[in-house]
Amino acid sequence: MKSNMWLDRLWMPFTSHNEQLEHPPLVIERGSGIYLYDTNGKQYIDAIGSWWVSAFGHCNPQISEAVKNQLGKLEHVLMAGFISEATTELTSILGDVLPRQLNRIFYSDNGSTSVEVALKIALQYHTLRGSNRNEFAAFGGGYHGDTLGSISVGGIPSFHGLFHEKFKKQHFTDSPYCFRCPAGKEPQSCHAQCMDGLERILEEHGKRIAACVFEPMVQGASGMRVYPPKVLHRVFDLCKSHGVITIADEVATGLGRTGKMFACDHAEVVPDIMCLAKGLTGGYLPLAVTAVREEIYDEFKGGPFSNRTLNHGHTFTGNPLASAAAVAALKLLIQNQFPESAQFVMQYFSKGLESLYEHNNVSGIRHLGFIGAFEIVRDKKTNEPFPQELRVPFRFSQIALQKGLILRPLGNTVYYMPPFNVKTEELDKIFALTKEAIEEISDEYTAS
Ligand code: PMP
Repeated sequence: MKSNMWLDRLWMPFTSHNEQLEHPPLVIERGSGIYLYDTNGKQYIDAIGSWWVSAFGHCNPQISEAVKNQLGKLEHVLMAGFISEATTELTSILGDVLPRQLNRIFYSDNGSTSVEVALKIALQYHTLRGSNRNEFAAFGGGYHGDTLGSISVGGIPSFHGLFHEKFKKQHFTDSPYCFRCPAGKEPQSCHAQCMDGLERILEEHGKRIAACVFEPMVQGASGMRVYPPKVLHRVFDLCKSHGVITIADEVATGLGRTGKMFACDHAEVVPDIMCLAKGLTGGYLPLAVTAVREEIYDEFKGGPFSNRTLNHGHTFTGNPLASAAAVAALKLLIQNQFPESAQFVMQYFSKGLESLYEHNNVSGIRHLGFIGAFEIVRDKKTNEPFPQELRVPFRFSQIALQKGLILRPLGNTVYYMPPFNVKTEELDKIFALTKEAIEEISDEYTAS
């Protein structure tokens, strides 16, 4: 018998103590493509890209090879006075992929830090210009990471509420949550009224606001809330007219996930600052990018005593192994012409999702590129959710897991983030197993 000692020592993320004991984490031994295998050899379909990172499947041969090659050369070098060859190559490739306006690339090592860097750049930029802008605008339902700066602009009460009172300088507009529209509009009658709040905030506090931070097109952690490009148009127009820097957090959406290279491309807008992480290395190693317009960088130009240096850097910034993984992942993206070449699979994916709609407990289906989601409701006619304490979505995910399908609902939202090279047979399997799990849930909770 293997010892379970590790469980008593572990503090699992986003997991209550009781849950950790009652539902200990499944130990995964290996992965291949869309599949993960536990230590008993049981196969699972990873339908969520393992926290949204796995763009080309687990243990992708090209990325693995690139990391192995790099391992034979160099594992780490400090990125102060030095840089690895892999990181120079990555910087060149990113230059070809990013919108040309986002000319300066700053590395860090996860999504939260890429946002921290963006916030700091925005604050320092305004200070360097002699302006007193030190507040931020953000979206309700937004998620930008778990470090203090990034939670200060996060808009999910259960994650961020506890900390908000520690930060007095954030202003939150409504969430662009179309399924339960805060302005009570339908898609046909919508003029992005969910951003009326942003207009009010900017009219009242605009002169003190350094930047507006948002997840373009899809608010991920609050439940894959897909919203239309017109919302982004309004955000960009408002920010521009108030001199507010736009920070597009593309940590989850960037590099093909939404069916375009960047989610901002859906609205044909280029932010002042863009954050990337997650799929950047194909899910292999932690690495993040904060890409910045040259006009912003201009303010940071000066010598060592000019006080114009961005004093920020992490030990593993621009790590060679992570950079080699990112180079390989970006080459896969470019050589296969993802996401454009995957139109057929994306449509197949969306049809599969729509086919779930026949079920009475499924509502609010949304999708964009390789992101798809629906909400579990008690009754589709009213869209009333099940009482929270019943934990129906959690039960649903447990049933799915028994069937060999990994899903991890966010509140009442069940979502999918398959790799870009997912096969249609794999999608068929994902939706067939989902239907079985929903039927079991329905029998358990709505019978009688
Ligand atoms: N921004 C967004 C939009 C995210 O979805 C996440 C992670 N889910 C983050 C930032 C934080 O990234 P990380 O967990 O790598 O710090």
